[in-house]
Amino acid sequence: MLISVESLPLIQAPLLQSEDWLIHGFGLKDTPVERYLETLGSPKAVIPKTKQTHGSHVHLLKKVNGPWSTVHGPLQGDAFLTDQPGIVCHVRTADCVPLLLADCKNHVIGAVHAGWRGTAQKVVVAAIEKMREKWKTEPADLKAALGPAIGGHCYEVGADVAGAFEKAGLHPGEWMEEIWNDRWYLDLAFANFHLLQAAGVPKEKIYVSLACTACDLEKFASYRKEGKGTGRQESFIMIR
Ligand SMILES: [Zn+2]
Repeated sequence: MLISVESLPLIQAPLLQSEDWLIHGFGLKDTPVERYLETLGSPKAVIPKTKQTHGSHVHLLKKVNGPWSTVHGPLQGDAFLTDQPGIVCHVRTADCVPLLLADCKNHVIGAVHAGWRGTAQKVVVAAIEKMREKWKTEPADLKAALGPAIGGHCYEVGADVAGAFEKAGLHPGEWMEEIWNDRWYLDLAFANFHLLQAAGVPKEKIYVSLACTACDLEKFASYRKEGKGTGRQESFIMIR
C-alpha cells in the first residue's frame, strides 16, 4: 500500500508494518534509500554497496569497522541477509521483482532481486536455504513481501526465457501464458509467489504488490518501457 512519510511517497506491506522491530519499504523511482532512511529516522544506518548480477548468490551482511567502502568493495550478488540491527538489506529494480523477507521468530531479514534470470535460478529459495542453514529459520515463521514489478500482461518474453523456466522445473502454464507461437507473457511476481509457497512460506504470510512498473511510469522506472537510461526503484529492510 502507498503511504507518505513526511510527504515522501513509499510503498509498504501491511504484514511487515505490524512488525515493530523492523523498518521496510519499496521506494518509488529515483529516490535513494538514504533519503527514505533519513525520513524514517535512521540516518546512521549502514547501507552496503552492492552490485546485482542477475544470479543467485546470497550475502550475509555484518557490521564492519570503518566506512563500508574502504573495508569492502561492492558485494556482487542478488540476495542480502542479516540479523544485525542498523544494517540495511536493499535491492534496486526497474521491472524485476524486489522481495523482502523477515524471519519473525529469529529476527533475521533479507532483500532479494529477482528478474527472469534470478527467478529461473530460484534466488529466493537460495536465500531461504541460507537462512535455514545459518539461523535455523523455519519457512513457516517467514513473512515475504513482493514489491512493484512488471505485470504479467506487460512482460512479453521469447522461447529462451520459457526454456530457462522449463529447465528449472517452473513449467510454463501457470505464470506463463502463450500468446502466439513461442511468445509468452511472464508473470514474475506469480512465479516467485509460487517458489515461496513451494519452499514452505504460508500463503497468508506473502504480500504481493499488484502495481505494474510498466503501466505506471509516473511512479516507477521500467526498463522494458524506457530502456537502458531508465532510473531505478530502491527497496529496503532493516532491523531497528
Ligand atoms: Zn502493466
